[in-house]
Parts: sequence; C-alpha cells; structure tokens
Amino acid sequence: MKFESLVNPAVLTQPVYEPGKPIEEVARELGLDPAGIIKLASNENPFGPSPRALAAAQQALVHGELYPDGGCFALRQKLAAARGLGADQFIVGNGSNEIIELLGHALLRPGDEVVMGAPAFVVYKLVTLVFGAKAVEVPLVNHRHDLARLAAAITPRTRMVYVCSPNNPTGTANAEAELLAFARALPDHVVAVFDEAYAEYVEPAPDLRPLIREGRKVVCLRTFSKIYGLASLRIGYGYAAPEIVALLNRVRQPFNVNAIAQAAAIAALDDREFAAKCVHENRAGLGQLEAGFKALGREYVPSVANFILVHVGDGLRVFEALQRRGVIVRPVKSYGMPEWIRVTVGTHAQNERLLAELKTALGK
Ligand SMILES: *Cc1c(COP(=O)(O)O)cnc(C)c1O
Repeated sequence: MKFESLVNPAVLTQPVYEPGKPIEEVARELGLDPAGIIKLASNENPFGPSPRALAAAQQALVHGELYPDGGCFALRQKLAAARGLGADQFIVGNGSNEIIELLGHALLRPGDEVVMGAPAFVVYKLVTLVFGAKAVEVPLVNHRHDLARLAAAITPRTRMVYVCSPNNPTGTANAEAELLAFARALPDHVVAVFDEAYAEYVEPAPDLRPLIREGRKVVCLRTFSKIYGLASLRIGYGYAAPEIVALLNRVRQPFNVNAIAQAAAIAALDDREFAAKCVHENRAGLGQLEAGFKALGREYVPSVANFILVHVGDGLRVFEALQRRGVIVRPVKSYGMPEWIRVTVGTHAQNERLLAELKTALGK
C-alpha cells in the first residue's frame, strides 16, 4: 500500500506556503556575506524588539526548565487592562497563525465554506483547505476588500468570513464604520474573523471592540510579530466573546505559547514609547519609498501598513535580481500579482539601499 493512500486527501492537494527566505539561506545559496544582506520580505520590524522586551525574555530564560503557563494568565491580565476588555475575552497563540488554525479545528467541517478576499493572507485558505472546507475567494476592488461583495458571497454553508485590514499583501484598510456595519449585518450562522496584524500602524486604528462587547460571533486577531518586533518568538492573540475563547481553548495544545514569548510580550506592551517610535519611523519610511518609486516612474499601492506593493513588470525577475544583490523582497505571483513585488518598510538606510538596487534591477 502506498503511503499516500493512507493520507487525508486534502493534505495531498494542499498548496505549500512559501515564506520569505531567511538571510542565512540566501547567503548560502548565492555565496553572499550574510552581513551585507537586508531582508524586507516578511514585514518584520526593522528596529527589532523593544529593549525592555529583550530584557524580559532573557530574564524568563533563567527558568527554562519549567513548562510555561499555558493559560497565559499574566499576559491576558495585561491585555485586558490595556485594551479595556475582560481577561476571559483573550486567547493567546503561537503566533496569531495558530489561532487561525484553532478556528479551523473548532469550526470547520468538510463541505463548509469560508469567505475571504483575494488576494489576502494565504494562511486563511491553507487552513480552510486542510479541513476539507471550501475557500470562497472574493476579488478585491482597487486592491481593497469590498465588504458588500464579501457579504454577497455568503451562503447557508458559510461558516466563517475573513477580513484582513490592513490587508496583506496590499496594505489597504477598511474604515471602522464599514467594518462594524458589516459585522452587525452578518447572518447568525457566520463567524467573522478580523485579522488586525498591522492595526497598530494605522492611526487611529479602527476600534472593533464594540462587536466583542456586544457578544457577536466575531474574532479579532493581533500579533506581536510586527509592531512589537517579536516574530521569532511566535506569539499573537485573539479577542472575542468568552464563549468563543472557551471553544478555542478546548482545541489548543496545553503549552502552546512559551514563557519567553509571554514575558517579552508583557514587557513589549509596557513600552509604548518604542511602539510609537516604530509607527513614526514607519510612516516616514513609507513616504521615502513612495517618493523613490515615483522617481523611478513606478506605480505603487498606497499603504497604511509596514509594507508596500510596487509594480515592477516581471516580479519574479526583479525579485531574483534584487536577491542576487543582497536585498530580499517578496514576489507576489502566488497572490495573483505577477507584475508586483511587496517590500517591507525598513530603516531609512535600508529603504535607500532597496531603492538604489531596485533602480539597477530595473535597468535604469
Ligand atoms: C504577519 C501576519 C500575521 C502574524 O502572524 P503570526 O503568526 O502572529 O506571526 C497574521 N496575519 C497577517 C495578515 C499577517 O501578515
């Protein structure tokens, strides 16, 4: 018997997620010095973690022999105080990606439908497919989620609808009023998931907490991977009605979030100055990149996140040319945008370097 015949058929047809390559891998493959490579591919924070988060992480390592608090009590208390919700309205995951997977475990059965934008963060689709559910993809309009079209795609079989705002990979956002109205008008059998991975970069960020307080079937997702610079530690959270949080807790592993990440996240929330500085620098960096793209005569999608799409003609070719010159960006062909690349906003110097190498790669 072939091994494949034993396998869940959804696994065999599952598309493979292609992450941004680590610097060391690119250095190895291209024979480059890792010290000269910059990575602007995965929307990581170019300023690293807050020094306070780093200190807390180091401190937590001392008790590396102990299992972590799987319930993330202290972090949920901190989140509750910071965000004005109850501690029982938060669930912490091994990255917010884990919570996307927990939603699949808790909600999806074969034949269910999950409505999502296209292009939007690919993990929604991957998780949907592996549970044997159907991904109903609704094209964006002007690179933005069209909430009326998403609503129109809902059927009696729809279990969830994902709205990513600001959206990855387009960097576009929906306004608070339209998000609230969309959620309030959903039929009772649909759970809305709002992915707010980049919300902290938006000022003011849409406030979706009224939906949670109203007890709606809504889950909001946030992460410590972006503005808080803790992508390596894998920690993110969701907030939702206590009933939904309780369901998600049933399907998570007992020690899903490590203690180092929990300690770092608590300290990161305390360092508001650092987060404010990152928002400020990001806005300046977006301006710098936009001006540079304009100077190169390149179309871009105005972004409110920490990354931006720019039109380069042959995205894969330009991605490879940049990579050979030590600048890692993200091709978005797999998102149906073969003529574009996605660039993470770096430090001022990194943005300069990207623009200079892009000019060369474009043959200007
Ligand atoms: C980066 C990102 C996340 C964060 O994922 P983690 O698992 O928390 O690192 C979630 N959603 C979107 C759309 C993202 O781009």
